[in-house]
Amino acid sequence: MINEKIIDTHLHVEGWQDSEGTFIDCFERYREEMGLYAINLCVVPTVQRNVCNNIMCALYKLAHPRTYAHAGVDHISWPISENMPEGMDLVTQYRELMEIGFDGIKMLEGKPSHHKRNGGDLSTPPLARLFAEIEKDGTHLLLHSNDPEEFWHENMKSQVKEGWWYGDGTYASHEEIYAQTEKVLENHPNIKVTLAHFYFCGKRPERLEALFEKYPNLCVDITQGGEMYHAFEANQEYFKDFFIRYSDRILLGTDSTYPWGTNVYNWLIDRTYRFVATNDKMSGFGDKELTGINLPKNSRENILWRNFERRVGAEPRLINKGALKAYYEKYKHLLTQDEAEQIKPYIEKFL
Ligand SMILES: [Zn+2]
Repeated sequence: MINEKIIDTHLHVEGWQDSEGTFIDCFERYREEMGLYAINLCVVPTVQRNVCNNIMCALYKLAHPRTYAHAGVDHISWPISENMPEGMDLVTQYRELMEIGFDGIKMLEGKPSHHKRNGGDLSTPPLARLFAEIEKDGTHLLLHSNDPEEFWHENMKSQVKEGWWYGDGTYASHEEIYAQTEKVLENHPNIKVTLAHFYFCGKRPERLEALFEKYPNLCVDITQGGEMYHAFEANQEYFKDFFIRYSDRILLGTDSTYPWGTNVYNWLIDRTYRFVATNDKMSGFGDKELTGINLPKNSRENILWRNFERRVGAEPRLINKGALKAYYEKYKHLLTQDEAEQIKPYIEKFL
């Protein structure tokens, strides 16, 4: 139990049910046991398509109003093309998702695997138009761009099955993805974007500092990747100062993904919280030691909840059932048979 206001701003739902129940309540035990003020579900199109995952997140919000959610546009087919089906272009989808009552947009378009599948260009015109709308509206965007640089190294080859190796020459390089991401910032300098996982800059925080100085609306989250915490541990004094200086640029999340199980979510938030708020020495990520940086109250509160509320809103938005139903009807042809069967009873119950 954490006795301080805290929001887990980075969670995913990938399963339908487990021994603890169904996806519709999947983080409620976690919320209660750890005393979380609110949670934020982020679409993740690895198991289900974005369409399916968006609907699941919206249903969760309907069932539990202390829930924020970030939805994703669906590219319908790959690579991203100018010729999307009539009325399903990315900007139209974005408008529909915001009308449903989502609190922001999640994109994994900079994750090397997605980046490759999408055609390898973060500034392709359909994406550029979407970024422009998001920037204009001041909508919060959580963007996963890049991955740990080790994933390009030859010695990670054995982990290709886990999706942790990009060294076969078919993926953009680590540096190319950084360059493309920063081009997006250059083209949309006021976009309210949070780069997930510390923008994989644990070993090169000066890159992040330069971006923070240039783009006032830019934030990062400290959602693990253990490698980032290993970097913090190796350079504690520097990072304590960094976290104080940029405490208004850092959000906290765990990447907890249903159905990993409540014990896992509890452990992740415990470590992440104690890293920020205590000087505990504890077993950390990948069995390495982790030492808390014990931030002063104001910096700590920025990271635990205030930055998220400032960027996304002090209350989660309400779901517009009519808009959600219309979205379901319009896009249900994109669901797999299994997704369609799984989702149907919930649609009937909640809409
Ligand atoms: Zn994530």
